[in-house]
Amino acid sequence: MEVIEKTAILAEKISLLRQAGKTAGFVPTMGALHEGHLSLVRFCRQQNKITVVSIFVNPTQFNDKSDLERYPRMPEKDLKLLKTAGCDLVFLPDEKEIYPETDTRVFDFEGLDEVMEGRHRPGHFNGVAQVVTRLFDIVKPDRAYFGLKDFQQVAIIRKVVKNMQLPVEIVACPIVRECDGLAMSSRNMLLTKTERKKALVLSHTLFKAKAMKDSHTPDSVTAFVIQQINAAEGVDLEYFEIVDGMTLQPATSWDNENGVIGCIAARVGKIRLIDNIEFSS
Ligand code: AMP
Repeated sequence: MEVIEKTAILAEKISLLRQAGKTAGFVPTMGALHEGHLSLVRFCRQQNKITVVSIFVNPTQFNDKSDLERYPRMPEKDLKLLKTAGCDLVFLPDEKEIYPETDTRVFDFEGLDEVMEGRHRPGHFNGVAQVVTRLFDIVKPDRAYFGLKDFQQVAIIRKVVKNMQLPVEIVACPIVRECDGLAMSSRNMLLTKTERKKALVLSHTLFKAKAMKDSHTPDSVTAFVIQQINAAEGVDLEYFEIVDGMTLQPATSWDNENGVIGCIAARVGKIRLIDNIEFSS
């Protein structure tokens, strides 16, 4: 495994490999890696000759400065995990390598950014689109791997790729959970032991919600989830919405050709967590 910090060197290296007929798969991350990230690396290895992983905590997608400051950083541990997982190239750039100049691009997500995460984190998805398109431009991957843990992010990246006609296939990978159900996240390590226990109410309520599907409407399941989370001490609900899997607009029935997803965001103490569950695909 090779670790590269410079954009020009990485681009040159991948370009030579691709000229030699090798397909390149890409997994963008912000580091503090866990099994969720490593599952993306495994999918990537199965489908591509070379696997490239980037580790970059992208400042332009953080609307909350304290969230950016406390975001966990542990590059040495990450590199060990990536080596064991069989990654070929790691891109570990600093901010100047990604943004030699301030990125002033403003993306049009055709409304996908006006709901859920977008509503609660203004500018977040514009920052995501900035960094992902910049990374795609450097890596020029055949395929890029994203986790469905960030369901809205996947929908938005698909939209950007389509609108900009970028020659990359987006592969969405399932959510990896801890044994007790909590969706894996780099932010979980910031939770205290008590908060970690309280955070379980998110996934457990989503599982219960899914079990209610056959006998309840989306509206009554939504009311149930909101009531359960509001009743949980130390957990502040930001939103729970049951939405169409493509338009991200509220779903009024379970029968929907784009799939139906329930998405949740809540704060446990100071830590903001998200999760989601598929009701129908
Ligand atoms: P991040 O480092 O949080 O930006 O995440 C990098 C990629 O890993 C994103 O595509 C995430 O959706 C994905 N990811 C993070 N957590 C999980 C998880 N628990 N299961 C599957 N994918 C995940």
